[in-house]
Amino acid sequence: MTYPLGLRLSGLRVLVVGGGAVATRRIPALLDAGADVVVVSPSLSPALAGLAQAGRLTWIARRFEPSDVDGAWLVHAALDDRDAAAAVSAAAHERRVFCVRADDRYAATAWTPAVTRHGPVTVAVLGGGDPRRAMAVRDAIREGFVGVDPATLAGTVALVGGGPGDPELITVRGRRLLAAADVVVADRLAPGLLLDELRPEVEVVDASKIPYGPQRTQEEINRLLVAHARDGRFVVRLKGGDPYLFGRGGEEVLACASAGVPVTVVPGVTSALAAPAAAGIPVTHRGVAHELVVVSGHLPPGHPDSLVDWDAVGRLRGTVCVLMGLKNLPAIVAALLDAGRRPDTPAAVVQEATTGHQRVGAGTLSELVAIAAEFQPPAVVVIGDVVAVTRTV
Ligand code: SAH
Repeated sequence: MTYPLGLRLSGLRVLVVGGGAVATRRIPALLDAGADVVVVSPSLSPALAGLAQAGRLTWIARRFEPSDVDGAWLVHAALDDRDAAAAVSAAAHERRVFCVRADDRYAATAWTPAVTRHGPVTVAVLGGGDPRRAMAVRDAIREGFVGVDPATLAGTVALVGGGPGDPELITVRGRRLLAAADVVVADRLAPGLLLDELRPEVEVVDASKIPYGPQRTQEEINRLLVAHARDGRFVVRLKGGDPYLFGRGGEEVLACASAGVPVTVVPGVTSALAAPAAAGIPVTHRGVAHELVVVSGHLPPGHPDSLVDWDAVGRLRGTVCVLMGLKNLPAIVAALLDAGRRPDTPAAVVQEATTGHQRVGAGTLSELVAIAAEFQPPAVVVIGDVVAVTRTV
């Protein structure tokens, strides 16, 4: 039988013997625990060399000597060579220091468990010497693990980026917080399928059904977030894509902050990047585009409230992604051509990207208005040579 422990390694020396694949996998968690990691190995993997160079660990560039164990609280023998690992193990045993062995679990005095981490909670599983069994159990626990203490979330708001539409494209943290929500205030563009997973008692507010104009609606959303949080509930504001990219997330954060309601933001996969990707368009490509600009097309060029320098955008050689641009596309394309963008620049429209209704149209900038006429919002317009890299337009 094993006796499980959680080692609090902050500031304590851990010796790792070996600098290859096993050490590369083990060391990040040791560093995360605050351990003072010393690696003894004639050579290091590139990842470990990077950590050594950044001063995150100490590298002793030679073969192991028994006295290396002196001063260490824990030893990892991350070696394939049985004899070399046995020498490390023997030196550790002699000094009464626990030793993990990559080459032979049964010769080790300590085992590393399969781990899943959820905020402050760590679940560690030992499989009685069978790492596959440990990982299978760990995976099952991770699946069902909400991992957040509802008490710490009560009375707070989380702005969660829901991703572009495919429910699998929310982040792990976003999904975890969503599963803990008491109230979900969902955007029109938030992936609807995510709402399907909510517990039946969760109150879902459809923000697109709030019956005011755009400005009043935002005020009403802000008011709702604050009011529900003050009632002691955990409120998730579920937004499409990333909360801060043309998502008014900043206004909601300010509203919560000025009401004294704790608020966190979980970034999301933005449609500005996911829509081109879903259409097979790399937004940058070596030798083709070294820049990317994301612009809102909700106001036409020349509009007094517009904050976009369309002339400058038109002079770019790189990739332009236009969000909310379908309605004003004729004026936008005219402005880009006026500014000097070539009419034969490849261009594409991607509607409802990453959903079952995704549609893609492609051609050149001069054809774009005619192509886009067949499309409906939400759509991302992509302009630039990258459109032709993996697609033939
Ligand atoms: N915060 C969001 C963008 C909100 S603005 C994000 O990061 O994705 C709304 C615009 O986003 C839409 O008009 C459209 O241009 C774009 N958009 C959002 N979801 C989309 C999708 N699934 N496919 C194509 N465009 C999308």
